[in-house]
Amino acid sequence: MRLVVLEGDGIGPEITAATMAVLRAADARFGLKLDLVEMPAGVKCLAESGTTIPETTAAAVRAADGLVMGPMDTYAYAGQGGGALNPSGFFRRGLDLYGNIRPARTYPGLRSPTGAEFDLVIVRENTEGFYADRNMEQGNAEILVTADVCVSMRRITKLCCDRIAASAFKLAARRRRHVTAVHKANVLTKGDGMFLASCRAEAEKHPGITYDEVIVDAMAAHLVRAPQKYDVIVTTNMFGDILSDLAIELSGSLGLGGSINAGDKFCMAQASHGSAPDIAGQDRANPASLVLSAAMLLGWQAEQGGSSANAFAAAAGAIEAAVAQVIQAGDCTTDVGGKLGTAAMGAALAARISAA
Ligand code: NAD
Repeated sequence: MRLVVLEGDGIGPEITAATMAVLRAADARFGLKLDLVEMPAGVKCLAESGTTIPETTAAAVRAADGLVMGPMDTYAYAGQGGGALNPSGFFRRGLDLYGNIRPARTYPGLRSPTGAEFDLVIVRENTEGFYADRNMEQGNAEILVTADVCVSMRRITKLCCDRIAASAFKLAARRRRHVTAVHKANVLTKGDGMFLASCRAEAEKHPGITYDEVIVDAMAAHLVRAPQKYDVIVTTNMFGDILSDLAIELSGSLGLGGSINAGDKFCMAQASHGSAPDIAGQDRANPASLVLSAAMLLGWQAEQGGSSANAFAAAAGAIEAAVAQVIQAGDCTTDVGGKLGTAAMGAALAARISAA
């Protein structure tokens, strides 16, 4: 399995190095035959070559079996145009990675600010919605009408609603069999109305899965009040982005936020959070987010079948178990109650996987 690795900006190089150490340990333990290929992208690249994603990097990703992408400091060059592309949008849209799967769960030994134990997954539409850079065939969906007037447009299509709803029910069938659709159809009657129609149609097809709907602003309160009530939450792009940060922070730290961006044929592992410039270069970032994202990518690969499926599934399970173990043992970064730095936590994870 050839994986392109983009180290990202800010804390990206630190958490990516830790993730590669973990992947190498999993490779050695489970015989995955991983080929990890590092390619340039991001802020440094923009300064050196005028683009955040050189064509050689884009081509290597297209030819690979998967992508591990470190967080990118997109705000540093937002709106510059030209080669200053947002790598998330570029790959999510370009490779049609329509499902952003963002789990949030509590861990033994780590107290959640809510006091509750929970295990939920946010399934977020990833290719349209309120994201101006991925809504138009040409140009950008944010228009400056006059110097003082801006119109930002959200695109919602039945195709994207149907397939994200189907992804959510497919996932719920393997979990606790409950789907909650989160929306704002009281105001966005057409777009979120279309989204809800797709979710309801999918619910009809799955009588064994319970289904309910919650308006997004109330959902922010419900998540804080009783996150244990939820299993799979499906929602549109921007709502999913915001609620997933909330849910992950409630699990103990944003640094635990693993995620994949999955299409029908390709998967990109990417932490839920950004490049965290406030702690970059200090060996403080929690690498679990990208480590768990990489484990999810291996799990996704296992679901595709093939002769190595069992090995990929076992490796994914071992990485997830190692994360839980280091947290419980306190062999982790300070955000989750430990005393280790990023590199040492990565080494602790790799050691547990090797010893498993
Ligand atoms: P952020 O997610 O980078 O950081 C928010 C807070 O969480 C900060 O206090 C940070 O220190 C903390 N944090 C994040 N990751 C952590 C980790 N692994 N361990 C411990 N603490 C962690 O949000 P921001 O500061 O608003 O954004 C910084 C940059 O990242 C911006 O340029 C933004 O556009 C970009 N961004 C990129 C992505 C992405 O690449 N997927 C996602 C979100 C934001």
